[in-house]
Amino acid sequence: MEVVKITPRGYCHGVVKAINIARESGRGLSGPVYALGQLVHNQHVLDDLAGQGVQLIDGDDRLAILDRVESGTVIFSAHGVSPAVRARAIAKGLHWIDATCPDVIRTHDLARDVVAGGHFIIYVGKKGHPEPEGVRGEVPSDRFVLVENADDVASLDVRHDKIAILTQTTISIWDTEEVVARILERYPSAVVHNEICRATQDRQEAAVASAAQCDVVIVVGDRRSSNSRRLVEVVRRRAGTPAYLVDNASELDPTWFAGAMRVGVTSGASTPSEVTRAVIRALESVPAPVA
Ligand code: SF4
Repeated sequence: MEVVKITPRGYCHGVVKAINIARESGRGLSGPVYALGQLVHNQHVLDDLAGQGVQLIDGDDRLAILDRVESGTVIFSAHGVSPAVRARAIAKGLHWIDATCPDVIRTHDLARDVVAGGHFIIYVGKKGHPEPEGVRGEVPSDRFVLVENADDVASLDVRHDKIAILTQTTISIWDTEEVVARILERYPSAVVHNEICRATQDRQEAAVASAAQCDVVIVVGDRRSSNSRRLVEVVRRRAGTPAYLVDNASELDPTWFAGAMRVGVTSGASTPSEVTRAVIRALESVPAPVA
């Protein structure tokens, strides 16, 4: 079977930065080193970091899990944290290291700026994901609302003259356009700030373009990875090509490739390249169907 290696794929600059920071911390610091929440959403990476001395303390509420740390160093994940988390770490006398992606930091700065300019923020993102929670913490609670879909937009009741729309960095380009369009129908004067990062956009656009020439597309990534799940969605919806998310080669299901001549492979921004290479090798060993 022919394997189309879709590019760009895999690690983005924010993930590389976070992993490097964590590895150096695990090797170089005395005392316990904790990743406050999953540093990036990929179990292979988390296992590797655990082997290098970085212990994961996980949970949805960053403040709550911070309370489980009594000493040592905490690393804030690539998704960013709210200022309250940073302040609590300082108050507890902990050493802290910030591995927030620069693209997420830019969104935090923007959120503060637009609120300082008198705007209310309608933020398009995923409920329960750490990134929106970090941004939410940058501004007063009565100036921020998180929406995920059209139903959320329909139930909005924002009574501010000045509204700014911000987006999470790792969501679907096309789904976001639809949700933003719904918001603009209700609040036509809202100012739109598309914060979907370049890495996410490039991977989604490449996956959709290549998928048109493939019978099936495999996305290698962790199920907790927002950008990996979005890659599956955009390929299915925009290209109409069957797409599946696998964590590793052992999850490939032969029934997906019945009659397939070409399979595309891409991977999420937090997927190690050696995991993707193993998936590619496994797919290349699948015989092409007899014409
Ligand atoms: S996917 Fe985008 S926002 Fe997330 S770490 Fe990578 S570059 Fe940063």
